[in-house]
Amino acid sequence: MLHIGCHLSLSKGYAAMGNEALRIGADTFQFFTRNPRGGDAKEIAPQDAAALKDLTEGHDFAPLLAHASYTLNLCSADAGIRTFAREMMADDLRRLERLPCKLYNFHPGSHVGQGAAQGIRFIADALNRTLTAEQTVVVLLETMSGKGSEVGSAFEELKAVLDLVELPEKMGVCLDTCHVHAAGYDIVNDLDGVLTQFDKLVGLERLRSVHLNDNKMTFGSRKDRHEALGKGSIGLDALVRIINHPSLKHLPFLLETPHEDLEGYAEEIRMMRERFLG
Ligand code: FE
Ligand code: FE
Ligand code: ZN
Repeated sequence: MLHIGCHLSLSKGYAAMGNEALRIGADTFQFFTRNPRGGDAKEIAPQDAAALKDLTEGHDFAPLLAHASYTLNLCSADAGIRTFAREMMADDLRRLERLPCKLYNFHPGSHVGQGAAQGIRFIADALNRTLTAEQTVVVLLETMSGKGSEVGSAFEELKAVLDLVELPEKMGVCLDTCHVHAAGYDIVNDLDGVLTQFDKLVGLERLRSVHLNDNKMTFGSRKDRHEALGKGSIGLDALVRIINHPSLKHLPFLLETPHEDLEGYAEEIRMMRERFLG
């Protein structure tokens, strides 16, 4: 069974997202933990969390993925912004413990001219002050396209962060197909080679989810523009090989493709389910 879903809006609550996922043929979904424009996140209503738990268990959902705000930057040059990001992550992780959602993905951050090495130290330091031995949520570093001064577009940088984290069992990676392709990893012509490299540096066992997106820009462009499946520079054949790859096919795949409405996602989910070999 292919585990696939898409990014959904939290605006109507948690159980509402579960129902939307069911309606479009998904068995997982992703959501932002809070309004990306900032402000305090609402506490999770226990009835809503319980209803989502019933729904996901009743329909045998794959792991759900929470996504941190895009604005969260653990490696800003500004100490105040770093502290704000750390507190936001700690608050997200605390609230997530109440949900049937055990994966939390975040963008490692932008070092804004301080250099990747300093960025990596700041990210690891923030994680070491935030992760707790008691938490059940696994925190995922997302692979990035490398636009601007983004950390995490090279597998070596992800490894460097993970090597510095004192609770590595609380950490994993989410691979974004658009981002790695834009970063110069040739998942179209050499998927095996890319995954071998990932395995050597990071370890495939750390890979917990995939963002399944086509790339609107070109290979190696270091630009972050998602495209609908089959309409970009990755192409449908390569995406079908990705969902069927023996090292990936068990993972939850989340669509972050541009669509006007949920029907666009429903169609992509149908299309990929048809092409999944099992
Ligand atoms: Fe992301
Ligand atoms: Fe992504
Ligand atoms: Zn992206």
